[in-house]
Amino acid sequence: MATSVQTAVRPSRLTYATQAAPGLVNEDYVLAGPDWAVVLDGATAPAGVDSGCVHDVPWLVHRLAGALAGPLATGAAGSLQDVLAAAIETVRTAHAGTCDLANPDSPSSTVAMARWGEGRLECLVLADSPVLVRRTDGSVDLVEDDRLLHLPGGPPYTCELVRSHRNRPGGFWVASTSRAAAYEAVTATFSEEEVDTVALLTDGVTRLVERYGHTWRDLLEDLRTHGPEHVIGAVRDAERAAPAAHGKPHDDATALVVAHG
Ligand SMILES: [Zn+2]
Repeated sequence: MATSVQTAVRPSRLTYATQAAPGLVNEDYVLAGPDWAVVLDGATAPAGVDSGCVHDVPWLVHRLAGALAGPLATGAAGSLQDVLAAAIETVRTAHAGTCDLANPDSPSSTVAMARWGEGRLECLVLADSPVLVRRTDGSVDLVEDDRLLHLPGGPPYTCELVRSHRNRPGGFWVASTSRAAAYEAVTATFSEEEVDTVALLTDGVTRLVERYGHTWRDLLEDLRTHGPEHVIGAVRDAERAAPAAHGKPHDDATALVVAHG
């Protein structure tokens, strides 16, 4: 009888929570399998801007999720960047006949991806949905793409400045109508053995660190100990206790945690 030798995926516990900003439609999305996970955060369209697209942001996010799920679930070969590039192309084709895909305000999404197996953990981050990785020695690595923080002049930006730097060299990259964005994503690979926790987060959760003074280490510990729902509750408590001077008072918030062992 033929036998195949596969590297066993270590037992892991995968949990997530996703919650819309109060009163709004959730433009975040989560999808996962036993050895992969994806978190997406659709970019809210500025009011009154013509996106050139007859669809809305959730349409883009859900299509992208669907296009990513197939190759990740079937274990298709290729890098995470290849998987993302193909998914962007699939979504692009789905509205090529109805929409102006050259419009820089076409709906878009951040992407955080993780895939593990064969002794490796691969991570991909596009725009401001980072991945946190805790090693078994207790150290924490942040896989982030912070190009959006470094546009000319620094935030807050005008819509025009963001539009002119989206998916352009020297600007920032998001999953929208250009497969080239996939190859601009930040990637990192870890030895699976040395990792005990992985978290994929949208900026509705990372504001606990960026706005409310938590550390990445504390955030990861809270996620592991108390779970994603508890942490999103802490975000809402912080937002109510100390409303932001700038930016959205609340945002869609998503956290997905994989704890090995
Ligand atoms: Zn469209």
